[in-house]
Amino acid sequence: MSVLILGSIALDTVKTPIEERSDLLGGSASYAAAAASFFSPVKLVGIVGSDFPQSEFDFWRGRKIDIEGVQRAEGKTFRWSGEYSWDLNTRETRSVALNVFENFQPKLPASYRKTDFVLLANIAPSLQSHVLDQMERPRFVVADTMDLWIETTRSDLDTLLPRVDLLILNDSEAREMTKETSLIKAGRAIRKFGPRYVAIKKGEHGALLFGDQNEFFSCGAYPLEDIHDPTGAGDTFAGGIAGYLAGTVSRVHFTDLRKAMIYGSVLASFAVEDFSLDRLRNLSMAEIEQRYETFKLMSQFEVSA
Ligand code: AMP
Repeated sequence: MSVLILGSIALDTVKTPIEERSDLLGGSASYAAAAASFFSPVKLVGIVGSDFPQSEFDFWRGRKIDIEGVQRAEGKTFRWSGEYSWDLNTRETRSVALNVFENFQPKLPASYRKTDFVLLANIAPSLQSHVLDQMERPRFVVADTMDLWIETTRSDLDTLLPRVDLLILNDSEAREMTKETSLIKAGRAIRKFGPRYVAIKKGEHGALLFGDQNEFFSCGAYPLEDIHDPTGAGDTFAGGIAGYLAGTVSRVHFTDLRKAMIYGSVLASFAVEDFSLDRLRNLSMAEIEQRYETFKLMSQFEVSA
């Protein structure tokens, strides 16, 4: 089964303590689509300007990512710039230019409307709802969000949440949303806003998953010695989860989500090894499976002699 992915498509400028690079392919949908495409066909929804490089369309086509839902508008592509602190754990947004994004009203092609799995990657919640409105009863809806929407468009987010099966957000966002200091309380509280499942990302410390009937799962992050660009780790995590689910299960259970979280973490661990999507561009399924197996072994706490 395929997965429809809506989100931002951007040209990013990224500054790390080591180097600065500009005009990089970025955006929540770009990372998520590349990650998901390892597991299932992807239908991409987004908007780009006339400055967007043709080579990226070729990249998507080469990865079997359907781009019929990507609008091309006169003007400039959405641009974002960020700078990382010395430990790569905190980031400051230096600039955001919405450009063609400002008047973006996604309209789904007819061939997209019956897609079973949906990932509403990070983008304004009103746009996420607008896309859901055009879909014919999707089986499973994953949504990502960010502090900006929690702070500025909370009522739009609250309207969306009951329509979401799995909400993904990071630890500080979960705390901000619920005013709970405990992430366990925050995860349970967010479930009450509507989503059946909630995944809370903790950066280099892994992720937590909450389900109904008190289901709970905690996983670490894959330990990496060298990180070059953390941009898009969260989007890649979400894309890996949604793609894995679409490609392997028809009815999602908690056990599937546990596995999906590990695949999401594996994909994210590759994404940060290079700038932009460069590591995902030359990644193989064999490398993914190998890291998944290592992850599994590392997480085993009872080992028979
Ligand atoms: P992450 O590192 O997971 O937070 O994702 C970074 C990506 O999000 C970058 O490639 C940006 O282009 C994109 N981005 C930044 N701000 C926004 C925004 N307000 N809406 C959608 N995408 C954004």
